This record gives sequence, C-alpha cells and structure tokens, in this order.
Amino acid sequence: MKLSGSLAMSHQLLLPVIHKARVIVDATAGNGKDTLFLASHAPLRSKMWVFDVQLKALNNTRSLLDSHGIKTPITYILDSHSHVDWYISQPIDVVTFNLGYLPGGDHGICTQSSSTLTGLEKCCHLLAPGGVITIVAYPGLPVGREEALSVESFLQSRDQRYYTVARWQMINQKNYPPVLYALTKKEGCS
Ligand code: SAM
Repeated sequence: MKLSGSLAMSHQLLLPVIHKARVIVDATAGNGKDTLFLASHAPLRSKMWVFDVQLKALNNTRSLLDSHGIKTPITYILDSHSHVDWYISQPIDVVTFNLGYLPGGDHGICTQSSSTLTGLEKCCHLLAPGGVITIVAYPGLPVGREEALSVESFLQSRDQRYYTVARWQMINQKNYPPVLYALTKKEGCS
C-alpha cells in the first residue's frame, strides 16, 4: 500500500464530487495541473472558473488544457480568488486552492494569508451542500508557514454543525512537507 502525499490526496478527495459537479473552481491556476485534473473528470455540462493574479499562469493553464483537447467550458479570471463572489453567485460544488508561488515563475508573487482567507470564507458561503474545498499549503518557507497556520485556524473555527474539516500531512518527512486541508459542507445546510 502507498500513502499519498498532500496533492495526490487532494485529488483523491475531490474526485467523487467532481464526477457529479455542476460548478467547479480552481482558485489558483498556476501552470494548470490542478485545472487539467478537474476538467478531465468533470461532466461536460459542468462549468469551471479558474482564478490567478498572473496572466502568465492563466496562459500556461489555457495552453495545457488546449493541448489536452479539454471541452469543459472554462472561464479564466485574471483576478484574486478573494473576489470570487464578484464572478460566481450560484452554489459551488468543488473548490481547490493550491497555495504558494507559480512554479517556474516569480517566487515573489505568491498567495497571501489575508486574500486566501477572504477567498476561503467566500467559498465556504458559496459551497453547495455536499460540496468540497481542498487547500494545499506549503509551510516550508516562513511566509507559507504563517499562511498555513492562518488557514488552519480559520478552518478550526468553522461550525461543526455545518462543516466537516480535516487535515492530512506526512509526519515523518523533513523540511515541513505540504499540508492538505479539506472541508465539506454537510448535506441539508444552505
Ligand atoms: N494549481 C497550480 C498548478 O496545478 O500548477 C499551482 C498553483 S501555484 C502553487 C499558486 C498560484 O497562485 C500562482 O500561480 C499565483 O500566481 C497564484 N496566486 C497568488 N495569489 C493569488 C490570489 N490572490 N488569487 C488567485 N491566485 C493567486
């Protein structure tokens, strides 16, 4: 048996919900690997919104999806996920945040605790009953550690009557391995 790392585990947790999702959000496009995963498993009738603050990231993501012949309708948004409610008002089934900087890009442009928490809070409100949010955080650098702690503290304070929240991390690896947080909204909640 092989235990998955945080990113692979995020995909495993998302998969059953993606299959029946109508509305899907990739909150951090980056180079598009998560978007490709989501779009590859999404029903054709679903709609996807993909956010990033860097045009380069959206272009990389669009190219990757085009090269795989993805047909799912995707709206690319050059804006912060903290403004998710400016673009989406319907219930969201799946959201993924993959925090940090664009691999191969400017390491100075990375997710920040304040906008991450704003985006996360808005996504919690917009989340459909039965929906899921995953967040992969990178505590390897001090800025990422601070962000991961803020995310954890925010998630710990979600009301357990409405949300189920869990954390997944390898605990015998050196140098602060990535940590996965997953939140689901209970069925019957609005
Ligand atoms: N999902 C990506 C992939 O599969 O390649 C990896 C994402 S990368 C680790 C993080 C991305 O978050 C970067 O491209 C960065 O530009 C973006 N980002 C930073 N702040 C953001 C914000 N406030 N809203 C949306 N994206 C942001």
